[in-house]
Amino acid sequence: MSDPAPERVPALETNAVHGPHTGHVGAVSTPIVHSATFSFASLDDMLAAQQQQAAGAFYQRKGHPTIHATEERLAHLEGAEAALLFPSGMAAISCAFMSLLRAGDHVVCVDPCYGGTQALLQWGRDRLGWEFTFVDARAPETWAAAFRPNTRLLHLESPINPTLAVFDIAQAATLGHALGATVTMDNTIASPIGQKPLDLGCDLSLYSATKSIGGHSDLLAGAAMGPARFMTAVHRTREVFGPIAEPTMAWLIERSLKTMPLRVRASNANALELATRLHGHPAVAQVFYPGLPTHPGHEIAASQMTNGFGPLLAFEVCGGAEIALDVVNRLRVIRHGASLGGVESLASLAAYTSHMVLGREGRARAGIPEGLIRISAGVEHIEDLWADMAQALPQGA
Ligand code: PLP
Repeated sequence: MSDPAPERVPALETNAVHGPHTGHVGAVSTPIVHSATFSFASLDDMLAAQQQQAAGAFYQRKGHPTIHATEERLAHLEGAEAALLFPSGMAAISCAFMSLLRAGDHVVCVDPCYGGTQALLQWGRDRLGWEFTFVDARAPETWAAAFRPNTRLLHLESPINPTLAVFDIAQAATLGHALGATVTMDNTIASPIGQKPLDLGCDLSLYSATKSIGGHSDLLAGAAMGPARFMTAVHRTREVFGPIAEPTMAWLIERSLKTMPLRVRASNANALELATRLHGHPAVAQVFYPGLPTHPGHEIAASQMTNGFGPLLAFEVCGGAEIALDVVNRLRVIRHGASLGGVESLASLAAYTSHMVLGREGRARAGIPEGLIRISAGVEHIEDLWADMAQALPQGA
């Protein structure tokens, strides 16, 4: 008798649709359980559920079946031992930092990182004596000098918003570990489909699930994922401070996960095509997109980003911030808005929105030109996006 065919390992798309429970019968969509607490036949049953923490249906702040079903799917897609869902990306990042840092600890953080993360570090400095040093994302060779004896955390983001600088994540994780730090990675821009921080050596993968994971710009959510030895502490912090997802939101995330590979691939393909066409346009001074061979981090991005180079691109319009504002005001299909990773394409101006607080000099230091337009590519037809962009750019430039 011939050997049975080896069992096929399901591909990303299949895992995204079915999650880790392909053998289950019954509702194909997880029921939304609107119950904050649960009842038991005996005290033993109650204690058993309580002990299961996030996996136990005991009390919503500890663990909840609809929320946990989504957490299991997230962990499965990320290849993580455990995942926890949060009501926002900042709740996930804050709980991770609060779990890993004690009063007086020092953090090394890539610059520029997300503004909310900078605000968290400043809050931790004012309230808990955290110290922090920002290191230039474009110059990883300078990072080692920033570590101190009390450095406990290296926090990474790659690609970096809005200039899309990338660095070698595996090398950064090795450096952080060698110098005594735990390594966290905000992987929001690439998404779990586009980059695997845990495989690259990071300890925790953090997300604003408001972006590509949710994917429809209709909810706020966050996620933290990683090995149980870190996630147990993150769960404890979530339980203490109480930023708990809501069952309907968790269900919407589960629904979004099923199409995430399709959405992310479509957005990434649109972003690459827009970047390529903008690169040759006479009204455009420069394009920032790691998918372009001219991008200084292209080879690194190609080696660590999967399924494309992300939905986010930026470009500098010739003529400065006012001309860039005119371009954004003329866009019709691409909407003027500040988020990313949704099915709809959005445009925003760094100098007027996300990086206004830096001022002109701060932006220059961070390599952010005044006329920078950031685009989050959605899943619309590329020719509609390009026709919109072409009519909005200065004519006859
Ligand atoms: N990390 C990055 C890279 C982000 O872009 C954002 C939001 O824009 C966050 C974290 C914070 O996420 P949320 O708005 O869901 O709290």
